[in-house]
Amino acid sequence: MSERPTIEQYQQYIQDNDFHALKCKSCGAVIAPPKGMCYSCGGTDLEWTTVSGKGKLVSFTVIHIAAEEFQDETPYFVAIVELDEGTRITARLLGLDPTQPEKVKLGMPLKIDYETGKSGKVYIGFRPA
Ligand SMILES: [Zn+2]
Repeated sequence: MSERPTIEQYQQYIQDNDFHALKCKSCGAVIAPPKGMCYSCGGTDLEWTTVSGKGKLVSFTVIHIAAEEFQDETPYFVAIVELDEGTRITARLLGLDPTQPEKVKLGMPLKIDYETGKSGKVYIGFRPA
């Protein structure tokens, strides 16, 4: 497969509960969600790679007014998670109580998980590891 990685492929991997990131062939940086260019060296020769799915919490916010897909689930957390491989992903934070944000600790270890929205579409989220 020498086809250029696309955001559609990225989404398809998630639908299959099989998260993939991109890896820069020049410098080895891991990139997710996919971009056309490496954030580290500017290289454009990128290939799919699997990741550990482990990371840590960098920051989070509580969402009270949500898009249609998650309207029934407010309030909920959205987090920025830094994967062990170095890239940062924004996703829902699962398995924690959004009414008690003081219990959420920055830097806490998380692992990737999958959840299905109202529409049947699969999303990635993170849970305490
Ligand atoms: Zn690079």
